Amino acid sequence: MDSFDYIVVGAGSAGCVLANRLSADPRNRVALIEEGGTNTSPFIAMAGGFVKIMGNPLYFRAYPVAQRPGMRQEMHAYGKGLGGSSAINGTWYLTGLPADYDGWVARGLPGWGWNEIARCFKDIESYRDSGAHAGRGRDGELEVTPSTYRGPVFDAIMDAAAQIGARKVGDVTQPGVQGAGRSQYTVSRRGKRVTSYTAFVAPIRHRPNLTVITDCAVQKVVIENGRATGVLCHRNGADVTLAAAREVIVSAGVYGSPHLLQLSGIGPADELAALGIPVVRDLPMVGRELCDHQKMGISFDLANHPGTNREFTGWRLYRNALRYFLTRTGPLARVGLPVTALVSNDPASTWPEFQVAAAPFAMRTVNEMAAKPGSPITPRPGITFSGYHLRPKSRGRIALASADWRQPPVIHWNPWDNPEDQAHALELFRMLRRFAAAPALAPYVGDERMPGAALQTDEEVLGEVRKMVEAGLHGTGTCGMGTDPATSVTDARCRVHGVAGLRVVDCSIMPTPVSGNTNGPAMAVAARAAELILEDR
Ligand SMILES: Cc1cc2nc3c(=O)[nH]c(=O)nc-3n(C[C@H](O)[C@H](O)[C@H](O)COP(=O)(O)OP(=O)(O)OC[C@H]3O[C@@H](n4cnc5c(N)ncnc54)[C@H](O)[C@@H]3O)c2cc1C
Repeated sequence: MDSFDYIVVGAGSAGCVLANRLSADPRNRVALIEEGGTNTSPFIAMAGGFVKIMGNPLYFRAYPVAQRPGMRQEMHAYGKGLGGSSAINGTWYLTGLPADYDGWVARGLPGWGWNEIARCFKDIESYRDSGAHAGRGRDGELEVTPSTYRGPVFDAIMDAAAQIGARKVGDVTQPGVQGAGRSQYTVSRRGKRVTSYTAFVAPIRHRPNLTVITDCAVQKVVIENGRATGVLCHRNGADVTLAAAREVIVSAGVYGSPHLLQLSGIGPADELAALGIPVVRDLPMVGRELCDHQKMGISFDLANHPGTNREFTGWRLYRNALRYFLTRTGPLARVGLPVTALVSNDPASTWPEFQVAAAPFAMRTVNEMAAKPGSPITPRPGITFSGYHLRPKSRGRIALASADWRQPPVIHWNPWDNPEDQAHALELFRMLRRFAAAPALAPYVGDERMPGAALQTDEEVLGEVRKMVEAGLHGTGTCGMGTDPATSVTDARCRVHGVAGLRVVDCSIMPTPVSGNTNGPAMAVAARAAELILEDR
């Protein structure tokens, strides 16, 4: 049986950072195990290529969502293969805000405050834009670059953001500021997507004490006498056990990690027993407290400008692909909304409630796509305003559907269910309309295309936003850190309560959501967790 000191399950955003930091000490024999493959497709390296690979089971792991009455049937998909979700995501980069992490300390989790996390971000980042705030890292592994989109619509969007209360900032990750600036992406200065694998593992893969194993699904963590001693894997059609002399670290993502714990007998005892899974540790919160950013978008006709939709269809698409492969520049090198604003209705707040963004680009809605699959890009130019509610109160859960590891769990997601969230949904919707109606954008914004100006009363708007809500796919909380095994899964050092030699490190341990996209925070949290693991060695 192959034996290692540390086995990291899942080569996603967090897992690759852990593999890097733990194997930096040559005494540690580290295995990084990934269910998916090598992710070498050129459509992964090209940020704009995600439209080509979207939903492909080689790169995505699909999770069915329990149907909400009267709503469309949803499926959530996270990434798979080296880099995990960082290999297929929108590359949009933010860090979260100081109050997010300081809130964790207030919950009894020392060592997770903004000071520690900011230090970890500085350590992992390489951001060299002239507008960078003083806390940014320049020499870390993770290259981040700002949007290169320029032109009159960009300037008008920036001015409009200021007109709704988000002052212009040189760096949208400036801590604790309500501001609007150029969006930032995990795209290298040479125009290639930066995944956690390309940044943290590829450059050090030659280390003799690091073993990376792909196409290897972990079925369960092996636990003997209350201690994790290895993992049972499925590889090349056979079952294989790998031994961990020190620790197993589960980094299988917000759905994958609680699923794996449950399959290993760690979770709500009654639910495990009902499926015939022997209970190793009754931990009722495994899979609970799922929180995801709730997202909505509204779009308008675009006036006096051709927009960017046409860049992704017909001969222009071929031209842009050629340009990308020859020069690594152009519309396919960096996609996403070029302006990001963090803003709330209270201008004095240093903890903005919403992330809003705009682009001269329009896509079909999720409801339209569900009704009639096909290209997501509309033929008519448009301008889209979208927003996330960053700290929703609604919580969902991950429930085992079967004791068979091949069967995905079922996701119960309840967006906008909480009355406070409904109030925020209305605020966000009206903020997006104010953004579109700001004087600076008057030359460009035409009729409201979706959902349509006819919706006016709170009741009408709320009815519609419940239908058009999308998951941010920024899930957190399903193996949340905390002090009490009755209300949490892991402790402040990411150790699973009551099971020795077992930690969870990924987005699932975040006890409350971070205010912004989660790829960067997953990596910073992993960098911090690696410090704790090495301290405990
Ligand atoms: C479509 C999409 C778009 C997104 N866009 C953005 C964005 O623009 N910006 C941003 O910041 N965030 C974005 N996110 C969110 C962000 O990418 C994730 O929150 C983050 O990458 C999660 O990191 P993680 O380490 O928790 O998990 P992941 O990166 O998902 O890694 C989990 C890994 O574990 C592997 N795994 C799971 N189970 C097993 C098993 N049993 N055995 C072996 N391996 C296993 C998986 O295959 C995967 O590689 C997006 C997410 C998605 C899905």
